[in-house]
Amino acid sequence: MLYHSTRNKSLSVPAAQAIAQGIAADGGLFVPECIPEMTAADFNALKNLPYAERAARIFALYLTDFTAEELRECTKNAYESGSFETPRVQEISTLADGTMLLELWHGPTCAFKDMALQILPHFLTKSIKKSGIDREVVILTATSGDTGKAALAGFQDVKGTKIMVFYPEDGVSSMQKRQMQTQEGENVRVCAVKGNFDDCQNGVKAIFTDPAMQEVLADNRMQFSSANSINWGRLVPQIVYYVSAYVTMLEQGILKEGQRFNLTVPTGNFGNILAAWYAKQMGVPIQHLVCASNVNNVLTEFIETGVYDRNRTFHATVSPSMDILISSNLERLLYHMTHEDDAQIREWFDALKTDGKYEVPIEIA
Ligand SMILES: *Cc1c(COP(=O)(O)O)cnc(C)c1O
Repeated sequence: MLYHSTRNKSLSVPAAQAIAQGIAADGGLFVPECIPEMTAADFNALKNLPYAERAARIFALYLTDFTAEELRECTKNAYESGSFETPRVQEISTLADGTMLLELWHGPTCAFKDMALQILPHFLTKSIKKSGIDREVVILTATSGDTGKAALAGFQDVKGTKIMVFYPEDGVSSMQKRQMQTQEGENVRVCAVKGNFDDCQNGVKAIFTDPAMQEVLADNRMQFSSANSINWGRLVPQIVYYVSAYVTMLEQGILKEGQRFNLTVPTGNFGNILAAWYAKQMGVPIQHLVCASNVNNVLTEFIETGVYDRNRTFHATVSPSMDILISSNLERLLYHMTHEDDAQIREWFDALKTDGKYEVPIEIA
């Protein structure tokens, strides 16, 4: 399977390169050329398997340039090395009759982001080798709180990598700040930014796509990559837990085969809910995807009106991971919804950059 840039469909790279690079040189995000489908038999075949085994089989559908052994090694390191407090990795509990909770917080930093960030470093080091690059990976990450500590923990002392996390000085909780500032490891750095998460994310994107910076890195045998959900290597592990949750619900008799269910996902950078959307396209019988926002409801408004407008007051809330006005992964969804119209994506995202606003036909929103 090859990956295209959302801003240039004719660019085609294998998964390893998409993961190693993090973001396309044109500023677009890497997207799979097609979405693999799973049948009822495929879901049944995942029953009663450990999470790490399920994950390896789902990854094999997307990361076709990795061998089965390589994928299993990655999932073993991430999910079977004792860093998750529950052997099942994820748990499903009942909140009320007919309302289930997918518990994704059993990783080392208690953030659901551990689900992806415990495996991303392993994908990355393998991807770099596969791409024939003999360079150190330098991870730059913008965080509104949870990503930072989970990324630092995932990359701590992973050979061949360095990580620097940028967080808004007043935009993370005091616990998150302390978790980041006290992170151990020879290869980790943190940096407070006077601004909000969007300033951090825009700054990181600008550094990534700056040719002069890339030259400095290349001269030092280094290369940038990203641990944010703009990296495909962050998204694909998130698809896994939705597929796995469906299989577990079948296993436990909570759902019958093919029985539809709704999913509500708190949303910031649109990565978590986009992973659920991919799972739905793959055949997980999700009826409605409910995009939950807080007062920074730029996404809710977009879905209702087709107008994406970031020109509004930014509110710092008690849910800082959702305090985001530029939801990067929406670009991937729009690319798929427009049937891969890369010229249209360029136009909208140029408009977002210059005017902070774009409008899509309501049938797409
Ligand atoms: C990261 C995060 C979100 C937002 O997820 P996205 O993938 O960025 O949409 C919401 N809530 C919490 C607690 C988070 O850590």
